Amino acid sequence: GCTAADVVAALRAAAAVVQEHRDELVRLDQAIGDADHGENMKRGFTALLSRLDTEPPDTPAKVLKLAATTLISTVGGAAGPLYGTAFLRASAAVGDAAELDRDAVARALQAALDGVVARGKAVVGDKTMVDALTPAVTAAACAEGTVAATLSAAADAAAEGASSTVPMVARKGRASYLGERSAGHMDPGARSTELLLRAFADAAA
Ligand code: ADP
Ligand code: MG
Ligand code: MG
Repeated sequence: GCTAADVVAALRAAAAVVQEHRDELVRLDQAIGDADHGENMKRGFTALLSRLDTEPPDTPAKVLKLAATTLISTVGGAAGPLYGTAFLRASAAVGDAAELDRDAVARALQAALDGVVARGKAVVGDKTMVDALTPAVTAAACAEGTVAATLSAAADAAAEGASSTVPMVARKGRASYLGERSAGHMDPGARSTELLLRAFADAAA
């Protein structure tokens, strides 16, 4: 099972990965957006790190809720409210359990996706984070075994989903302003979703 401390550790791992990949995410957003996704994500996860230090919550749901409120108030852009909603829905989905099993993790991922779709109205093929998160949710639902195995399957599927955005023409978000010229580049939000899920999987392993 995955305790509040485990969720905190997963978010710390995610923050480290976001910091490491800041420049890569900036470059991806430079190609089809406004070049701020790496900095937006780094700002949000750095703020989250300091809040996890000063006010570590005592249930998985409360940790996820702290991530949500922090990301909503610090990331900005399109991704801030979308990731914020994802973590808020994930928090609500796990209830007040002291430990999350693999089914709870799969439910949380499904709820996160539902929140992103409710908020952003993107579907698979629109070249957004939904293209990484959707296959991740499916893989997590089908996976068996431990929380780590579930998250690892989700991360693998998200990687394929992020790659699938390269030839796509964007139909949502800033990249959609480019029309056909958005093709040939990976969507930055799909890549950051992949990175977050890989960090969660590695932290759980
Ligand atoms: P902004 O585009 O406002 O500068 P970011 O650069 O931080 O914000 O985030 C851009 C990412 O947000 C995109 O790469 C895409 O994955 C995601 N995104 C944008 N609009 C939507 C949407 N409607 N639904 C889902 N994801 C979206
Ligand atoms: Mg941007
Ligand atoms: Mg922006």
